Amino acid sequence: MSTKTYEVEHLHQPDGWLSPGYVEVDQAGKIVSVSGDRPQGKEVESLSGYGVPGLSNLHSHAFQRALAGRTEFVTGALAEDNLWTWRKEMYRMVDRLTPEDYEAIGAQVYLEMLKFGMTAVCEFHYVHHQPGGAKFADPAEMSKRLIAAAGRTGLGMTMLPVLYAHGGINKPVEPTQKRFVHTVDEYLALIENLRTGMADNRTLNVGVALHSLRAVTPDEVHETLAGFNRMAPDAPIHIHVSETTHEVEEVEAGLGARPVQWLIDNVDLNDKWCLVHATHLDASEIAGSAKSGAVAGICPLTEATMGDGFFPLVEYHKARGNWGIGTDSHYSTSISEELRILECGKRLELRRRNVIAEPDGDAEVHTGRIHFDTALKGGELSSRQGGGALVPGRRADLVMLDPNADVFLGHTSRTVLDAWMLGGTENPVRDVMVAGNWVIRDGRHPQQDTVRQDYQAAMKRLTS
Ligand code: ZN
Repeated sequence: MSTKTYEVEHLHQPDGWLSPGYVEVDQAGKIVSVSGDRPQGKEVESLSGYGVPGLSNLHSHAFQRALAGRTEFVTGALAEDNLWTWRKEMYRMVDRLTPEDYEAIGAQVYLEMLKFGMTAVCEFHYVHHQPGGAKFADPAEMSKRLIAAAGRTGLGMTMLPVLYAHGGINKPVEPTQKRFVHTVDEYLALIENLRTGMADNRTLNVGVALHSLRAVTPDEVHETLAGFNRMAPDAPIHIHVSETTHEVEEVEAGLGARPVQWLIDNVDLNDKWCLVHATHLDASEIAGSAKSGAVAGICPLTEATMGDGFFPLVEYHKARGNWGIGTDSHYSTSISEELRILECGKRLELRRRNVIAEPDGDAEVHTGRIHFDTALKGGELSSRQGGGALVPGRRADLVMLDPNADVFLGHTSRTVLDAWMLGGTENPVRDVMVAGNWVIRDGRHPQQDTVRQDYQAAMKRLTS
């Protein structure tokens, strides 16, 4: 099988930088070898700048991109303006979404993710049916629209169809929520349908998502996990958990334990699990969840805009817990913006600098590096895309950062990740490769104009 070799001026490695680094990629889009020595007798393409692994975005509701910036006002009718009032606006949009809209919005936001250096997304997808709840002729219609949107842009996707069965603990679903609802059997059939279709797609994975302990009963949790584990024992499992104090109280009253504690006590929590938000955790939940290997799926800007609360980053990191970032409602798709608010918000709260970098003798421990590497690992565990590191055997998801971007002037590999995260607002991502294919070159995607036109047309329909 023929391979292609790239000479990367500075290549991100799990333990530092290789300058230059030679990366050999096969036709299946996998990394065959990485070396500091130029291979003899082989053609080599040189890439200037900093080559870092593509990041998996661990939480997305693609269609919510269309709501960003539309709910930032108050009226007398929205006296209690928090997640629950925002949700009313979201449901108003859900009532109108067509499959075409869903795909057009998806392609736009997926392209935005690629431009900021994300190479895969975990799509927590819950708008399954027609308005009113009637099934589409193909029950997987809406899932397939988002898979098509990812395919059109070249972004890797871990499709997570969501099981949503109830409007709350002991509450029936509301009329708008009828678009979301499945029985466990219907849901497992949908997963099976999608997993069969993913067989020859090297950038698609399909996992399971339980909406929350509010929307799925304990019996349904166990039944779904049993069915899913038989089908796909290695695939990821996601759940929304402890985003608001309201949710913690509802679950505690209904199930007798706080949400994360309930999971620790009742399921085999391990590193296949992504606990999305995990904002409100007590000491026992931090210790138990961190020990289990489950990934805390922090969505910093979305949680900030909702006024949810702040993830206990320092305590969780200190407990050696896995965590990563998602862009959820897509107030931003920028890796550096999401990590910046996480780090800087904690600095404001704690009134100190470098909150998760722990001293290690005389070695320099860099905040940008720790954040980026932790988010890479958390993203890969949550997506199971096969990337997350530029080492042999992993998928060739390579992001080239432009050394001439203003944000990097005067920097070297020693501080480049700090500068990306905390040194300016310019996007330095120049080229993006997913599974061995270049999808962005010199900041451009070949389909960006038509993707934008389709998005504009969908927005016109949705807001008219
Ligand atoms: Zn979510």
